[in-house]
Amino acid sequence: MHDVIIIGGGPAGLAATAYAIRKRMDVLLISPGLGGRTNRKMELPWVDDYNVLVGESMVERFRSQIEYLDFLRVRTLVERIEPRDEGYCIILKDGKEHWGRAVLLATGAQGELLNVPGEAEYEMKGLCYSTATYAPLFIDRTALVVGDGCQAFRAVAELQRIARHVTLVAPTHGDLDLAVARNLAAMPNVTILDSYEVVELKGDAFVRAVVLRKDGEITELHTDAVFVEKDLKPNSALVADLVELDPKGFVKIDEMNRTSRPGIYAAGDVTTAKADQVLISMGEGAKAMLAIYDDLLGIC
Ligand SMILES: Cc1cc2nc3c(=O)[nH]c(=O)nc-3n(C[C@H](O)[C@H](O)[C@H](O)COP(=O)(O)OP(=O)(O)OC[C@H]3O[C@@H](n4cnc5c(N)ncnc54)[C@H](O)[C@@H]3O)c2cc1C
Repeated sequence: MHDVIIIGGGPAGLAATAYAIRKRMDVLLISPGLGGRTNRKMELPWVDDYNVLVGESMVERFRSQIEYLDFLRVRTLVERIEPRDEGYCIILKDGKEHWGRAVLLATGAQGELLNVPGEAEYEMKGLCYSTATYAPLFIDRTALVVGDGCQAFRAVAELQRIARHVTLVAPTHGDLDLAVARNLAAMPNVTILDSYEVVELKGDAFVRAVVLRKDGEITELHTDAVFVEKDLKPNSALVADLVELDPKGFVKIDEMNRTSRPGIYAAGDVTTAKADQVLISMGEGAKAMLAIYDDLLGIC
């Protein structure tokens, strides 16, 4: 039986693995790949290279440390977690089983998709799900944000300080009555389109326009980029029957990443800690591993 099994090789899982190795723990990392969401990088026609992926080089360091340590790594998806005896049995897609005294869930979260023609083609070619990362690249450019809640309002607020013009396409009236949305609507370089549906993304090598529909009428809008800022969906199905989740499905954790069930820990975007950035996710992963180490030793 391993001391700890880490599920997910993104920033949280990588940092946790590096800490476990440093502490000479018997650790197993299960993940189809290493790096998680940091493996995706936006390309924009007016940008040759940029340096906004602040956590990328940190992730790279951990990844290169762990990549060649094949004995502590299984490259596949976990299908199920079952509490058994003194620990947990982790059942993989291919039916194989691994046993751990503790489990760290670091499976991340996914942005909600638009599910329209052009989405797959332009993903990371002007279409992106993370304004916080790329907003600084929009000096004197236009941007379009899709969403009708606080995440979208935050994105518009950030972009409007930098971009020439920002359009918020709100699929429903959503939270548009909030003061923050009304303040944004009053800004000279912000337009809010209430209850418009995105039906298609158009472009060449990069996204150049969105096709919108309202009350059956079709409009086409030019834009330099599209940011989808709807709720993140946590990859928490593996522990849904085992630990407490919040109403949106994020794993509830305490300040040391313990879940409601002894022996199961969680870190990164899958948790209520709202990591959503590489460096925060890495810190959460490291913190979780310190808690696991203490708990396995019985230190209070
Ligand atoms: C397009 C984009 C760009 C971004 N750019 C930046 C940036 O520049 N700077 C920044 O700070 N943040 C950025 N972020 C946010 C950042 O990437 C995330 O906050 C961070 O990656 C979260 O780390 P994580 O380890 O919690 O999850 P993830 O990075 O999502 O990793 C989760 C891992 O779990 C694995 N996994 C999932 N399910 C299973 C399973 N059942 N079994 C086994 N493994 C599983 C996945 O394969 C993946 O390896 C960006 C996000 C996006 C979407």
